[in-house]
Amino acid sequence: MLKAGIVGLPNVGKSTLFNAITQAGAESANYPFCTIDPNVGIVQIPDHRLEKLAEIVHTQRIIPTAYEFVDIAGLVKGASRGEGLGNKFLANIREVDAIAHVVRCFEDENITHVAGQVDPIADIETINLELILADLETVEKRMTRVQKMAKSGDKTAKQQLEVLEQLKQAFEQGQTARSLNLSEEEEHLIKELHLLTLKPVLYVANVSEGEIGQEENNPHVQRVKDYAAHDLAEVVTICAKVEAEIAELEGEDKVLFLEELGIQESGLDQLIKATYKLLGLATFFTAGEKEVRAWTIKEGTKAPQAAGKIHSDFEKGFIRAEVIHYNDLVAAGSMAEAREKGLLRLEGKDYVVKDGDVIHFRFNV
Ligand code: GDP
Repeated sequence: MLKAGIVGLPNVGKSTLFNAITQAGAESANYPFCTIDPNVGIVQIPDHRLEKLAEIVHTQRIIPTAYEFVDIAGLVKGASRGEGLGNKFLANIREVDAIAHVVRCFEDENITHVAGQVDPIADIETINLELILADLETVEKRMTRVQKMAKSGDKTAKQQLEVLEQLKQAFEQGQTARSLNLSEEEEHLIKELHLLTLKPVLYVANVSEGEIGQEENNPHVQRVKDYAAHDLAEVVTICAKVEAEIAELEGEDKVLFLEELGIQESGLDQLIKATYKLLGLATFFTAGEKEVRAWTIKEGTKAPQAAGKIHSDFEKGFIRAEVIHYNDLVAAGSMAEAREKGLLRLEGKDYVVKDGDVIHFRFNV
């Protein structure tokens, strides 16, 4: 299962947000391969297509796809030098597929800011600097090795060295690896370094209760957006405190509360969807009388590997995939009708699964 990590300075609202996530989160029973850890919450991706599919195939049971949110608290100044629990936190960040970086944009005299005043850009830079310094160390270490190889005429080493030099220069100017917008080939050359600042980032601007739905009036948020644009990162605005309240509500109560706030979708749902998008993910479905279920794959995944998400035996014994796109199935109205019309296709092992495919795998056991 993919993982997103929540980072941020102390007192910016990380725990509040994380609690909202776990409160709203899924029961782990449906996701047996998840880590059982108090710092890990499972979030389900809201997807309206599931309800429609359940209607079509006449089932009550819906299992949305999910990913893990990890609370990586305690990243502070000096982490890259191993201060505090520095190394442990950097190691935790290395494990995640994407980062949700929470920044404080709310003013509240009662809540101490670690740096004395609300300044989201300074906060972002404090954390990014630690990540950049850690990456700089990684890159410099690698450079010493690669330089020797490049001198002895190794072509790949030469190419690698060029990218490493670019990175080093960026780091020395306080820029992230992400902001360089490296080409696919360049990224491939340095993939094994697992750079922290190359991971996709979502800045989560935490605003105060009164500012929901009118974030454009908050100058801090605007600054975060400007910063993110340069850093090639995304921004979502939420009020962590209100999200914690929303997370306790369900059904009609939740709808009414959102209406009262003047918003259609909770900040948490926006955050979940934005992270999903950030991870470059696609969803395919399995649909039968027993259940309809959404599964997550990276865009570009082929049918056997998609089958492997369900069970490794499905991948090993893969024969064919019987595929229909969600839109075609909805248009047909039922599986039987779709079959009648010849809308179900048989695809082989080279088929690239598309977002919205409804798939039945055939395999040997
Ligand atoms: P963490 O250290 O980053 O995990 O921060 P916490 O989640 O513990 O939040 C620190 C304090 O800020 C707590 O007292 C929260 O209630 C408060 N807080 C968090 N989000 C908001 C918010 O959106 N508005 C206000 N006014 N207070 C908040």
